[in-house]
Formats: sequence, C-alpha cells, structure tokens
Amino acid sequence: MVGVTVAPWPSVDNSTCKHCGAHVTDHFSRVFGDNRNRAHRCGDCDSYARLSRGSAAGVDVSIPDPETSPGRHGGETDV
Ligand SMILES: [Zn+2]
Repeated sequence: MVGVTVAPWPSVDNSTCKHCGAHVTDHFSRVFGDNRNRAHRCGDCDSYARLSRGSAAGVDVSIPDPETSPGRHGGETDV
C-alpha cells in the first residue's frame, strides 16, 4: 500500500498576521492578503488606508506606516 496523502498546504496557518501575529479572519486574508491568502499586515498593526492599498498583501504602500510614523495613526483623511 502506498501511504499517506499529504495535504497541499501542510500546517500553513493563515489565521495570523505575519507582521504582529494578531488573529485575522479567513475573510480578511482572502480580501487583503497576498495570493496565498497570507496577511502581511492587519487592522491591529496597520491603518485601513494602507491595508486597502495592499499593505496586507506585502505591497510597499506610499502612505506612511503607522508603526514608523507616530502621530499619523488613524489620521488619514483619505476618502
Ligand atoms: Zn498585524
């Protein structure tokens, strides 16, 4: 007998942010994550303005990072 079927994504956990380790939902990973549904950033460590431009997919967004630009967090008036 030929043995065990190996899952295509063995024990890959896409339920946490790669940056800060916070829990992210499947929905978040699919919408904002990269092409393997991995969230590089999340709502805990990045601003929505950056997430919506691809920061969670690993894209280098031009908007200042709230972690490295104190005082800008939540200050985006970008609509
Ligand atoms: Zn995070």
